[in-house]
Amino acid sequence: MLNQFPLNRFANEQTPFYYYDLELLEATLNNIKEYTNDYPFHVHYAVKANANDRILRTINAAGLGVDCVSGGEVAASINAGFESNKIVFAGVGKTDREINLALDANILCFNVESIPELEAINELAQQKGKIADIAFRVNPNVDAHTHKYITTGLSENKFGINLEQLADVLLYAKQLKNINVVGLHFHIGSQITILEPFKILCEKINELQEKVRSMGFNLKIINVGGGYGVDYDNPDENPIPDFKAYFDVFKNNLKLYDNQEVHFELGRAIVAQCGSLITRVTYVKKGTAKQFIITDAGMTDLIRPALYQAHHKIENITSTEKDTEVYDVVGPICESSDCFGENEVLPITKRGDLLALRTAGAYGEIMASRYNLRALPSIIYSK
Ligand SMILES: *Cc1c(COP(=O)(O)O)cnc(C)c1O
Repeated sequence: MLNQFPLNRFANEQTPFYYYDLELLEATLNNIKEYTNDYPFHVHYAVKANANDRILRTINAAGLGVDCVSGGEVAASINAGFESNKIVFAGVGKTDREINLALDANILCFNVESIPELEAINELAQQKGKIADIAFRVNPNVDAHTHKYITTGLSENKFGINLEQLADVLLYAKQLKNINVVGLHFHIGSQITILEPFKILCEKINELQEKVRSMGFNLKIINVGGGYGVDYDNPDENPIPDFKAYFDVFKNNLKLYDNQEVHFELGRAIVAQCGSLITRVTYVKKGTAKQFIITDAGMTDLIRPALYQAHHKIENITSTEKDTEVYDVVGPICESSDCFGENEVLPITKRGDLLALRTAGAYGEIMASRYNLRALPSIIYSK
């Protein structure tokens, strides 16, 4: 379904552009609904992965909520039609202005990451005569040595509150008149493609819940964060992540008490596969040992390869050549990290061919910049 690019529509388009397969996005959302419907599970899409308005509207239409990390994302979500009671606001550095915006919008919950932030929310809520519902982001401290995928759930980083400090923080929050603690929040990392870390997270949460309940707290929301990964190598074989396996981990391992809800904040897993960056080959340059495909897309359009050494599958979608050659695929930006792939095996490629950089729906368009005074990539939707 994904590989059938509407080449007739692409022919005269200004490149580079993002192409979004909205049917695939809808199929992905339906799949998520199928495995969460009969459970007290609520998915809040992590807007930071892609804040494109059509994408947000499609996600809203499917009934999901949103997880925002800035006032701008809260505003974009409201603008795209999300109801305020489906908006969660996270982030280590919420400014007063952003907190006020969220208070005025009556969002569902603030995910709080420190005492000073808690105090700021309490004070600003008091000025408005409101009570802010909050969840504490906790570092579950899952062992990174056994699970290298986990990058943000350790105690020593800027995110969240350490396990050892949580009891004191909860007791302190209880005294604040304009704060209502409704939940605990966890997020252990990103692009996690094995399920074991999520299972360990469940076990940590179970332990923690016993402690918190023994302190007299009865929290409604357990937010397990996002981080489920996608198959960057085989987008056509795995266009939709295995959500059944993912949600089963929580169904089977997370112990819930009366009326508790589980909140999820998936970003990449929802939008990555529906997007491709389409770029035209500007030149094919033959060196002595290598040959280069120089594309009109660069790191300003898709920064993941330059920023994280990520790799997106590259396809020549217009070539009819049967023979292949080996190329380095590079962008036009004046930075040597502006490279999409080394030693890529592609059909013989010519100036003017179109390439697709697949699985680019998450952390693609949203991270585009105008460095080198380039235009931002344009957008084409499947419908
Ligand atoms: C980035 C982030 C997410 C989404 O991560 P994905 O890997 O895109 O699923 C969810 N929650 C928090 C707190 C985040 O920072």
